[in-house]
Amino acid sequence: MDSIADNLQSVKKRIHAAAISAGRDPTAITLVAVSKTKPTSMIREAYEAGQRAFGENYAQEMADKANELADLDIAWHFIGHLQRNKAKLVAPVARYMETVDSLKIAEVLNSRAGTPIDVLIEINIGEEGSKSGVNESEVPSLLQGMSAFDKLEPRGLMIIPPYLPDPEASRLHFKRAREIMARLNADNVVGYPLTELSMGMSHDFEVAIEEGATIVRVGTAIFGERY
Ligand SMILES: *Cc1c(COP(=O)(O)O)cnc(C)c1O
Repeated sequence: MDSIADNLQSVKKRIHAAAISAGRDPTAITLVAVSKTKPTSMIREAYEAGQRAFGENYAQEMADKANELADLDIAWHFIGHLQRNKAKLVAPVARYMETVDSLKIAEVLNSRAGTPIDVLIEINIGEEGSKSGVNESEVPSLLQGMSAFDKLEPRGLMIIPPYLPDPEASRLHFKRAREIMARLNADNVVGYPLTELSMGMSHDFEVAIEEGATIVRVGTAIFGERY
């Protein structure tokens, strides 16, 4: 198996190539290394190779890892489904909360936050009953309601499309997310432009970049398979 540094290098090359072929600035794309279930030794290795943004899905796991790695300047992104009683674990350490899908969860996060947290609204883009995220029609009112929370700064949208092995099959969802954000901006829903679109994982991040992703969340291609 290649080293984490090698894997990071090749993912970054692919991000660069996808951005260039889409006529985009490669430096406008943030790579979040998804380290869920992986040991802190691997996070350290990635950090030493220059990686700074890491994504975690489980509140307790993120809090424990942040504690253990407190000597590193990591930007933690929470990307899992958050239960209200776990918000106190996430709010003090997350720099980015990517999966806000209700005013209730926003309220608890706001009350537990130290420094301000950048926030993305998760949209249930495939409208799958089993998935978290809000429906498209609920996004404007959710964003408007968030203006009450001084510690939360809405930046954009996040989606997890239904899993389809062929990355091309997800293109319509990526495109739709970009259109929804353009609409929110045209309507000036938050009073300033939303700029971030978190979409694309190991198997489909290139297509997501072609459709406007500014944050890609990549786990397996960096740290290997999860068991
Ligand atoms: C696990 C996970 C990822 C990373 O998936 P890979 O296929 O391993 O790259 C990205 N986003 C979310 C929300 C995840 O849960």
